[in-house]
Amino acid sequence: MAKPSTDVVVCGAGIAGVATAYSLAVRSGVERVTLCDPLPPLTLTSDKSTECYRNLWPNRPMVALMNRSIDLIEELARSSGNAFNLNRRGYVYATADPDRLVGMRRSAEAAAGFGSGPLREHRGSGSDPVYQPAPADGWEGLPTGTDLITDIALLHRIWPGMSERTIGALHVRRAGWLSAQQLGAWMLDRAKDAGLTVLLRRVIAVEVIDGRVAGVVLDDGTRLACGSVVNAAGPMLDAVAGLLGESLPVASEVHLKVAFRDHLEVMPREAGLMIWNDPQHVGWSSEERDHLAAAGRGDLIEEMPISCHGRPEGGTGSSWVLALWEYHRVVREPVWPLPEDPLYGEVVIRGLAAMFPGMAAYADRMPQRIVDGGYYTKTVENRPLAGPMRTPGAFVAGALSGFGIMAACGIADLVAAHVTGSDLPEHAPAFTLERYEDPAYQRELEELTETGQI
Ligand SMILES: Cc1cc2nc3c(=O)[nH]c(=O)nc-3n(C[C@H](O)[C@H](O)[C@H](O)COP(=O)(O)OP(=O)(O)OC[C@H]3O[C@@H](n4cnc5c(N)ncnc54)[C@H](O)[C@@H]3O)c2cc1C
Repeated sequence: MAKPSTDVVVCGAGIAGVATAYSLAVRSGVERVTLCDPLPPLTLTSDKSTECYRNLWPNRPMVALMNRSIDLIEELARSSGNAFNLNRRGYVYATADPDRLVGMRRSAEAAAGFGSGPLREHRGSGSDPVYQPAPADGWEGLPTGTDLITDIALLHRIWPGMSERTIGALHVRRAGWLSAQQLGAWMLDRAKDAGLTVLLRRVIAVEVIDGRVAGVVLDDGTRLACGSVVNAAGPMLDAVAGLLGESLPVASEVHLKVAFRDHLEVMPREAGLMIWNDPQHVGWSSEERDHLAAAGRGDLIEEMPISCHGRPEGGTGSSWVLALWEYHRVVREPVWPLPEDPLYGEVVIRGLAAMFPGMAAYADRMPQRIVDGGYYTKTVENRPLAGPMRTPGAFVAGALSGFGIMAACGIADLVAAHVTGSDLPEHAPAFTLERYEDPAYQRELEELTETGQI
């Protein structure tokens, strides 16, 4: 009996694998694409995200990648009748610190130079440009770039309930969120219509004949001949590279998220993703402080890092808020269930009180909350991997860190072009493994201070 064969096997059906399968089968017209995963699509990491996107990044290649990815997401939103509820409410970085405000202006100017759109300043003077509010829904016809708002009256009008200590906020405009599950499901359905085969199977071996990929072996013993394999295994990226005798420069960090019922309606329901850009001390009482110290949680009493953030979740009538604050950055081998932090939900809700003081009302009685999360699998400089591996016929689509939902379509676009030998855009080399062989890039890495992670 002839061995079953296919042109490309995509290993991993998270958002990276699904977008790559879509790009190959639908956009590039590759006839025989097979997507393998022992789990149902999008159920390991890709359904745990906050589902947000932004084109403000601290370097040109990341801005180019995200702009391309967002172009593709908008194209899909248009052709699907916005099946995945794409909005453009923006990211809002707020501060009470004049030095940080200077840094925010600088990063907005730099990002504008990299192509994320112009900076507009709103100081409360007659010569200010008009501030265009972000509607709750939709994304068309809205500005790109950033609005730096130091007009305090305007700031409180847009985001009522924000701390009186706030001296400025940077509103990133080509940013917002979408339903990652719906986006993934929509791409998967279109790809299946174009001939994609989906197998609920783990890839346990990759066959290499005469130095190039010739097939894969699945966990039921099936051997599938193929010309190319794409490693889109998320937190198992390096383990799958190991099937080829290769290794990838990635590590995984635990990242949790809390969903809670903001029944006091502290966070404005029309807000974007709200980020407190200052370090802070959580407002524990002295009794709580003693208790935490005695319980070995002195880390929660010390100064805590920047970027406690959250956003409203759900449509009319919902009071849910999603919130994140990675105050530990634990790097480890991925295991499930995730390591627990029983205080996580409470700490984040208390941390949000720095930006929205009304959240402090929850200190006495915490609202209903659910904590979940996953791994940010990332490279040292927090740029993804999209391109050939060392074995001819093998490719990688991964290291998507905390930006996999927003970057997946752009990454898939690059990987499909590498697989099919099509023309590559200017930003492609910034995401290949080869970049690490460039001594100038190695020097750049040594001086790296800003990775864009929040
Ligand atoms: C708390 C949290 C918040 C986040 N917020 C955002 C956000 O707001 N915006 C954003 O853009 N991103 C966000 N992210 C990041 C985003 O979720 C990830 O970058 C993205 O989901 C990674 O997708 P992936 O396809 O690479 O990996 P995964 O979704 O983990 O998929 C990998 C798949 O590979 C499969 N696999 C592994 N080994 C094999 C094998 N041998 N054979 C076959 N299949 C295999 C696994 O079973 C899994 O299904 C967040 C992540 C977390 C954890």
